[in-house]
Amino acid sequence: MMDLNLLTAEEAHELDALIRASEHIVITGHSRPDGDALGACLGWYAYLCEHYGKEPFLAVPNAYPDFLMWLPMSERIVRYDKHPDEVQRAFDEAQLVFCIDYNGLNRVEAMEQALTDCKAPRVMLDHHLDPTIPTRLTVSHPELSSASEVVFRVMWQLGGFDTLSRKFAIPVYCGMMTDTGGFTFNSTRPEIYFIICQLLTKGIDKDKIYRNVYNNYSQWAIRLRGYLMSQKLNVFDDIHASYYTITRQNMRDFHYVRGDAEALVNEPLRIRGMKVSVSLREDDRVDNKIWVSLRSVDDFSVEDMARRFFNGGGHFNASGGYLDCSMDEAEKITREAFRYYADALGGRSGA
Ligand code: 5GP
Ligand code: MN
Repeated sequence: MMDLNLLTAEEAHELDALIRASEHIVITGHSRPDGDALGACLGWYAYLCEHYGKEPFLAVPNAYPDFLMWLPMSERIVRYDKHPDEVQRAFDEAQLVFCIDYNGLNRVEAMEQALTDCKAPRVMLDHHLDPTIPTRLTVSHPELSSASEVVFRVMWQLGGFDTLSRKFAIPVYCGMMTDTGGFTFNSTRPEIYFIICQLLTKGIDKDKIYRNVYNNYSQWAIRLRGYLMSQKLNVFDDIHASYYTITRQNMRDFHYVRGDAEALVNEPLRIRGMKVSVSLREDDRVDNKIWVSLRSVDDFSVEDMARRFFNGGGHFNASGGYLDCSMDEAEKITREAFRYYADALGGRSGA
């Protein structure tokens, strides 16, 4: 049997005791939660319900994409932006708080104050670099595929898998799948397939989960994606870098809804030899706010680029951030970033 343990025996014992002793447990995910954030939170939620008999409170700062609405028990998720008082009450009563799939308090944006003020001990289950949240227990493994994998492994160590249902298995599979681009990156460790094998014993339909996530676009989303790749992509051949922009006008033209451009930043990496891809997207409401997504392959770190140029961070090959400026300015900064890394990207820059 594969060894999936992430905790020392003492840590496992402490975590088990903490859960058992806590009546009021709050599970939190990061702002604009993605498949892994929701998958890991909902998987952990199901585990605490089904194995420990708890009734946790699950809070995220704001909206998540439509293509994740089908996840079992997603109706239990409480959005802080819609129900701040209810979330505040949950924090006031909390005896234990889980921070799942994020590494810093600022990643919950408007919910940060409520989370910071909460007196309950925190436990982090995460896979981002450089965890900074003060906790009782930090389970942080940047080498793993996803926070959902961390959730599975901690559950596996604490015990109770045999009695868990598909409500645990579906979100955990979904999170591992989305954070690895359908098992196409960060996904060569054999443990991943052992875990999938276990999840499949719960009778989940992994092909249907794939279709629910990846073949669930509106006609307009597909048209937008085609338009962006054909008209808005800037390729710098000599340094193997590219970026594209999404403006509010583009969003209006293509009836944009949240999630329509999800993971499109991976698409330019399909160009032969491409090493880095950057997406610049205007906020759909706030002026001079540009959301940045970065992806790379192999040994080039977009985490460094995100920290240095885009107020962000994340993983070595997948990071995010933002800029408070116009799109013109954001494009200048992106070209500057490409120039800065020109040598590492293997060429003299024409950016
Ligand atoms: P995405 O491009 O999908 O928004 O983000 C890619 C990765 O970077 C995700 O794992 C996400 O958690 C992380 N990330 C996104 N935005 C930020 C940010 O502002 N700060 C940090 N530290 N990480 C981010
Ligand atoms: Mn993640």
